[in-house]
Amino acid sequence: EVILEGQGLTRRYTTDTGRVLTACRNVDITLSVGETLGIVGESGCGKSTLLRLLTRLEKPDEGKLLFRGKDVTGLKGEALRRDRRHIQMVFQDPAAAFFPRMKAGEAIIEPLLNFNRLSRQQRLKRQEELLELVQLPKDYAGRYPHSMSGGQRQRLGIARALALDPEILICDEATAALDVSVQKRIIDLLMELQRRRRLGIIFVSHDLALVQSIAHRVMVMYLGGVVECLPGEQVWERA
Ligand code: ADP
Ligand code: ADP
Repeated sequence: EVILEGQGLTRRYTTDTGRVLTACRNVDITLSVGETLGIVGESGCGKSTLLRLLTRLEKPDEGKLLFRGKDVTGLKGEALRRDRRHIQMVFQDPAAAFFPRMKAGEAIIEPLLNFNRLSRQQRLKRQEELLELVQLPKDYAGRYPHSMSGGQRQRLGIARALALDPEILICDEATAALDVSVQKRIIDLLMELQRRRRLGIIFVSHDLALVQSIAHRVMVMYLGGVVECLPGEQVWERA
């Protein structure tokens, strides 16, 4: 059951020197419900550009994007805003996305408040649910993200990404800044969430071995194009 499909996605930029650079070249991509798709490639190969097209921060110059079979390439305004809820991102350092004066509980439900008015009680309930989902104690709601460890902050980043109940999670170098043991636990959590929620996960990294160990399929990018699609080994085992 394909949930997201990109067909011939192409994005060009004009550089400072006036040269036209194809950052993303005719990329076909599909993601199924509950699937982990890995994307690897060296710096500058077009990974971030592709992600901006998938999350609709930018429009492709050519190609189209389908969500559950519906063409969403041309969506604008309110329709675009609503549609983008389905695809959420987890970044390398989520703390960068948190306002320094915001407590963890507020930070994780913030995306929700752009869409819904919630009573104080509803907010607290949602904060608790999300903290539980990422296996953090309830009372962390009152702490500041900068007082937490890297792994704890990444759990907050995942909680925030889940606040809108998305169907797809895009993890962009989400474990790159973490120690190996912490990295493993964050991936355990992602795999657990995937299993329970049937999340589609796109896991972007420069670390091919890691990506292969968790993905069902791996796309290798080079100079803006997809050069190879490998089967993942998906040998990752939960601790
Ligand atoms: P990656 O995420 O794999 O490192 P990017 O998608 O960031 O790759 O970049 C792909 C290419 O597109 C690079 O050559 C980069 O310099 C260029 N590029 C990316 N964004 C822009 C932009 N906004 N304007 C001009 N060139 C860009
Ligand atoms: P259970 O383990 O009992 O099956 P669930 O996995 O369905 O529970 O959900 C655990 C908690 O997370 C519930 O309180 C639920 O309201 C909340 N929740 C459900 N879906 C999501 C979601 N996509 N993102 C964040 N929280 C969710």
